[in-house]
This record gives sequence, C-alpha cells and structure tokens, in this order.
Amino acid sequence: MTKQKLTCPACSCFCDDIEVDIIDGRIKSIDNACLKGSSLIFQTEEKNERTPCMVQGLDTEPEQAIDEAAKILLNSKNPLLFGFDHSTNEAQLAGIKLAQELGGKIDDFSSFGYGNIVNQLINKTIPTCFISEMDSVNLFVYWGANPLHSHPRHLANFSYYANPGYSEMSTFRTVDLCTIDIRKNETALMSNPFYRLPPGGDADFISTVCKGLSNNADNKKAKDFYTLLHASSSTVIFVGTGLISSMGKEITPLLEMIDSLALDIKIVPMIDQPNMRGFNQTLHEVTGSVNMVDFAGGPSENGKISFFQNIIDKKVDSILIIGADPFYKMPLQVLKHLKQIPIITVDPFITDTTKASKIVIGSSVSGVESEGKVIRMDGKEIHLPAPCPTDKLSDVQILKLILEKVKA
Ligand code: SF4
Repeated sequence: MTKQKLTCPACSCFCDDIEVDIIDGRIKSIDNACLKGSSLIFQTEEKNERTPCMVQGLDTEPEQAIDEAAKILLNSKNPLLFGFDHSTNEAQLAGIKLAQELGGKIDDFSSFGYGNIVNQLINKTIPTCFISEMDSVNLFVYWGANPLHSHPRHLANFSYYANPGYSEMSTFRTVDLCTIDIRKNETALMSNPFYRLPPGGDADFISTVCKGLSNNADNKKAKDFYTLLHASSSTVIFVGTGLISSMGKEITPLLEMIDSLALDIKIVPMIDQPNMRGFNQTLHEVTGSVNMVDFAGGPSENGKISFFQNIIDKKVDSILIIGADPFYKMPLQVLKHLKQIPIITVDPFITDTTKASKIVIGSSVSGVESEGKVIRMDGKEIHLPAPCPTDKLSDVQILKLILEKVKA
C-alpha cells in the first residue's frame, strides 16, 4: 500500500491536502476530502459508473469511436463544442484548436452566469486577490452563495476558519462571517450577521447601501451592512450564483458600491464548475473572449450566441460535449432540438448526456487518473497530479486525436 497526495478535482477549491491509500494502483481510502470530493474520487473506482467507448449504443474500441466522431464533425457545416468546465487547461486548449480547425462554435456553462465577471477579472477591472493574500481580512461576506453545500471546505481551508483572526472563543475572534441571501441556508445559519433579501432584491439593497447612513433610516439591513463594511479594515465578498442571477449576470452596481464606499473590499467569484475559470482564461488568451466564440467567420469572431440559443435556432448540426452533462438540467425546449442532431460525448462516467449520444468516448478522470493544470476560483494556476494512472485516454489525448483526423 502507498500513500499519495491528490488534489481534489470536484470543485473550484481544488483542495491540495487530500491523501489516498493506493493498493494495486487503485484507491482504497481517502483522507481530508469532503463528501462531495470523496464521492467523485471513489466514483472513479466504480466500474458500473464508468462509460465505455460506444458507437450508436454498441461498445467499441476508442480508435473507432474517435474515427466516427471525426467523420461527424467533418461532415458538419455548423459544429458546436460545449462543456470543458471539468477538463484541464490543456484539454480546453486542444478543444479550442479543434473548434478553430472546424470553423465551429465553442461555449461553456459560464455563458449562463460567471462569464462577465471572469472577463472583468481577467481585464483587471475588478478589485480581487488570491486566497493566499487573505490573512489580514477581517470580514468575509458570502453573497448569494452557500459554500457549505457547493464548496464544502471553502470556509475551513480558504476563509473564515483558516483566517488567523478566527478563534473558537468568540471574545478573541477578530474576523466576521456575513451571509446575504434570499434563503436562510446552511452558511447563513452560522453567520453573524445574516441579511435575508427578497428574491431579486439585491440591486435595491446595493443602491441603498451606496446612499450611506443618512438616507437609510427606512432600511435597517442596508444601514447595518454599511456600518459593518466601515468597521472592517479589509473585506472579501465571495460572489455566488444567487447574486449573479438576481443581477442578470451584471455586477456593475456592486462595483459602483465598492467605488463609492472607497474601502478595502475585494471580490472573488464562487465559480460553480471546477475549471470554468480555466476555460474562460484559456479561450480569452486565444480569442480575446471568455465564452460563446464562433470561428465560422475566421479566428476570434465572437458570435455572442449562447449554447441554448444556438440549439433552439437550429444553428448547429452536430455537437461535441466534453466534461459537462447538459441533459441533466436542460429545458425541454432545448432537449427537443438537441435530440435531432448527432451528439458526441467525451466523459469518464455514464450520464444523462452519454445516454442520449450517438458517439461516446470514455475518458480518464482528470486529477485522479490523468494530470493537467486548472485555474482555481481566485485565478491561481494549480497542477493536478495523477496518483492512479490508467490506460484510458485523457480528455486532451482524445481531442488531439480527433484534431489529427480532422486535419488529415
Ligand atoms: S471542497 Fe471541493 S475541492 Fe475541496 S475536497 Fe471538497 S469537493 Fe474537493
């Protein structure tokens, strides 16, 4: 038995303190990972949950599935490549090169939420910091986020409990935890204060905070939050999907609030898919856009058309899905159209999307069976080692092989 280090690939925290016991190349026990991380890591060992390579529902060798995938893409006039949020940066780059070669479209789930904010972070128009720079923070605000559910070790490893100002005895504590949400979620239950807002009420709350104390007599919560921010010498606001949805993907009012308060306030996005920030950053380096790129009119032409809209408008005649399970949460309206075009899916596991696919290419699990780089939610590049190598092809190998066949 050997003990090895593993960096958990299950969420955008990418905790690097996981230890696994390995016997005969397979994982037998895991230390330090949360339930979410352990589930993914142990899932790699569940043969019944791994997908083989398949063409039209019949098991086949990877070579044949890759061959068929390349033929479908080559015969398409408008192919779309979608997903990549569970893939490594290397696989994302290979996918971008494939989309370029095909003159197709490429997009990920960030076009439904975090794309704008990551774009602003890349362009340095948002005040932010790395997790390693948060020691002097004395107020952590989770806004529209419930990390105890979505990123279970976030508080313990990166914010409140990891902060030097935290003490189990509240009288010695010099750091505060605040939650703003429409629900009294698990994180809100342990926060003090917690501000409960009505659904869609974030913009009004922000605008009232901007007005300061004098005009806030009618809004006690906004007045309290204003006072809390002024009492803190350094604040980090973790922006969750709840806030982004409520603001229509646009956080300019929040940035204006930070500007008007003129305090030390930083923003870090609670990226909801593990390597979404990696996809945004990799695509931005190649094209200048973080998502929704259409290479049909030449390199770097940004079509600004989302994945769902492309499908509904029948602008796509084949789709390659990698590291995503859109069939799990897709509206019926989109599903109806998607079923009419050939779907190629690259995934380590059996999912609703692999079940609906014409071609399935079973891949290794990045961060467990194959290595690569990813970008953590705060923008730091992290290397994922591969403690359990396998003979399954990785995402990047599969995409490079398809690209070779498309070019041949
Ligand atoms: S918090 Fe995220 S990265 Fe850390 S162990 Fe849990 S799932 Fe894995």
